[in-house]
Amino acid sequence: MKSSFHGKIDEIPGVYVDNFENAEQQGARAYFLSHYHSDHIQGLHSAQLLDVLSKKNITIYTTELTAAIINDDKNDERIMKHVRGLKMGSTLISLPGMPEENIPDLCVNVTLIPAGHSAGSTMFLFSTTTQNILFTGDFRVNLNDLPSYKHLHVKDEPIKLDALYIDTTFLDSNYENFPKRSESVEKMIFEIRMFLDLDENNAIALHTSAKYGYEFVFNEIYKQLHMKVFVGSDRWRFYSSIPNLVPGVTDKEKSTRVHLCRNRSENSSHSACVEKCRNNYLFVHLSAMKWLNYKEDKCSVARVSPKRLDVCFATHCSKREIEYFVNYFAPDKIIGFPNKYKWTRKRNDLFDGGIVKKKVKIDKKVDATLLKLMFE
Ligand SMILES: [Zn+2]
Ligand SMILES: [Zn+2]
Repeated sequence: MKSSFHGKIDEIPGVYVDNFENAEQQGARAYFLSHYHSDHIQGLHSAQLLDVLSKKNITIYTTELTAAIINDDKNDERIMKHVRGLKMGSTLISLPGMPEENIPDLCVNVTLIPAGHSAGSTMFLFSTTTQNILFTGDFRVNLNDLPSYKHLHVKDEPIKLDALYIDTTFLDSNYENFPKRSESVEKMIFEIRMFLDLDENNAIALHTSAKYGYEFVFNEIYKQLHMKVFVGSDRWRFYSSIPNLVPGVTDKEKSTRVHLCRNRSENSSHSACVEKCRNNYLFVHLSAMKWLNYKEDKCSVARVSPKRLDVCFATHCSKREIEYFVNYFAPDKIIGFPNKYKWTRKRNDLFDGGIVKKKVKIDKKVDATLLKLMFE
């Protein structure tokens, strides 16, 4: 697995995010982790990192929930000694100086802002006395809600960002739009309900594209169908430690007709997922990748065969959402990961060679139209 980001925050020497490879060469004075997905934790469990952390007494900052996930995954005291879970909101962190490079101690205000991507995911806003740097991590925000992110505004105006490190997973003309997740889940639950009502032996095999990030779906199924999602013992161990956050899962197979499926296709048996297989399964596949050229008027679920329902569920921003986010903040510098942020022709009047010339004033009227287009 490749890292999606090289890790280095250029504006604050010694600060590394979501990349723990080559720890000896990095010369870090603090690490940050936005969420626990494999392309963001490369090197995290390496002996080399552990060695560097211990020798220099370096901390890995993340959210409280991600700290719990790391602990659950590896249960390694040696690394946990260096992991510090932060609360959402701001924390003042002091970074030790790097005398060999003539870099003094530095106080950084780090603000954690929910990234809407997966359980425990966060954005990091690094503020020094002179600069604001936003690292989005993998993220999906509802653009309607953007003005209510209080840490990203001063007196209702977007804050000035000196640099924006932004998730560009779907910065691709094939992924111009994604439906809202709540809308996809509504339609999915409608289909699931119909299928379950047909026969009491019918059951649902829920397949997700990543390990964490679908907790909202489990909770919504439980809320609307009064049926929890059965998960295997590995997942149960963690979810049962945060019951308030994920009430929609259970380890009691017999109590439900929905299970989290280990299969990749609708044609495999469920003997690896459940002890007692039922007669007839609907394989519900949640993903964004295969939903190329999604149009707003298109349905966000598709019954591709009697045994399979595909659901468009994006835990990353669509191309249009990424561009809107960038324009909204109009930062001085943009670093996209895993894809380079390229400027489209349409924006040449605003931007020049990848560097934003000046802050763009958002026209409220234009906003409303764009938002209407995107969400209604
Ligand atoms: Zn991710
Ligand atoms: Zn299964």
